[in-house]
Amino acid sequence: MISRLDPYEEAKKQLRVTSSILGLSEEEYEALATPERIVQVKVPVIMRDGKVKHFVGWRVQHNSALGPYKGGVRYSSETNLSEVMALAMWMTWKNSLAGLPYGGAKGGIQVDPFKLNQLELMQISKNYFSAITPFVGVDLDIPAPDVNTNPQTMAWFLEAYEERTGRMELGVVTGKPVELGGLNTRIYSTGLGVATIAEAAAKKLWGGIEGRTVAIQGFGNVGYYTAKFLAERGAKVVAISDIKGGIYSSKGFDPEKVKEFITKQGSGFVIDYQNVERRIANEELLTLDVDILVPAAVENVITPELGPKIRAKLIVEGANGPTSPEAEEILVKKGVVIVPDILANSGGVIMSHIEWVNNRMGGWITEDEAKAKLIQKMTDSFNAVWEFWEKRLGGLGGAYSMRAAAQAIAVDRVVRAMKLKGLI
Ligand code: GLU
Repeated sequence: MISRLDPYEEAKKQLRVTSSILGLSEEEYEALATPERIVQVKVPVIMRDGKVKHFVGWRVQHNSALGPYKGGVRYSSETNLSEVMALAMWMTWKNSLAGLPYGGAKGGIQVDPFKLNQLELMQISKNYFSAITPFVGVDLDIPAPDVNTNPQTMAWFLEAYEERTGRMELGVVTGKPVELGGLNTRIYSTGLGVATIAEAAAKKLWGGIEGRTVAIQGFGNVGYYTAKFLAERGAKVVAISDIKGGIYSSKGFDPEKVKEFITKQGSGFVIDYQNVERRIANEELLTLDVDILVPAAVENVITPELGPKIRAKLIVEGANGPTSPEAEEILVKKGVVIVPDILANSGGVIMSHIEWVNNRMGGWITEDEAKAKLIQKMTDSFNAVWEFWEKRLGGLGGAYSMRAAAQAIAVDRVVRAMKLKGLI
């Protein structure tokens, strides 16, 4: 059984480490830890039986020192305020590390979206966005997809905003369908970024990624595209799992075939896939003897109990916050390299920024240009973090994880902006 730790407490523990590296005061730490605004909304939906049901949603705006708030919105029955607060803080660091002119925010609705039909989903999306409309805007806060939301959700968000304000601001949400100002690169950009970063790390560790074995936990948007791009780069994806369990093949899977199969199955899960050596539980996937582990589902799956059992040498965090700080300490001592979420999965928000710029200019960009920009930015970020980690924190074999380096660069930029504005 996977234990659920309190994500905001975990995020604050990470910030403590960063504060001590940067020599920040207690007041500065508090100013960085505390969100600027928390909006809670009640979202009514007329259900198929005609009864009105109310759901609770949040938008947490963590920090705007660097620019308008930016971050996704997730739909999940497990979502709670603490989780959204942690995710909002991580967005601040992610956007800062990538050098984007954005602060950090996150939204969530406590709902199991798989239990809603299309009409109910449309209502919950429009009513949620309508409720948070006073707090969002192209220069204020720009939501985007996250767990269980997609371009269709963004189209409903956009329509609710236009309906309520009477203004057509395409840049108020990103990750939109192509017909509404989205980019066709956005759907796969997080996965492309994770694969780019995994390859860069594999080059440092082994000289390349060819033939390296990979286990992927989560087969949603991030997990699937990461698997696809890693397989294209010559890595061997030997294990894949989703919420119901996983599959293993020592020969490696063709992720596109697995995806095609489970899509055809309707609500199919990877355990239904036929061409497998054996079926495995989620926990077994995390502890497989592979070169690279990509947690691409939710936070806190690599718990302190699991830490000692992990056998991968490289962990690339596709999900946000998958490794608990205690587990990370154990893994660092074991010499495992963890490429942190705020670096590894920043491809999504980087592409969001390209989309937002494009919308504001009323311009256009080709798929190749957008992809090249993404890969360049992520490679530069990786190199900057690796260099800081090696030169300032002892690198591999030292006492600090790569997250400490990434967060130090990110938090330092936010601190400098806050100082310039007289906020600390
Ligand atoms: N939800 C994604 C993330 O966690 C993307 C956010 C965005 O594009 O604003 O980074």
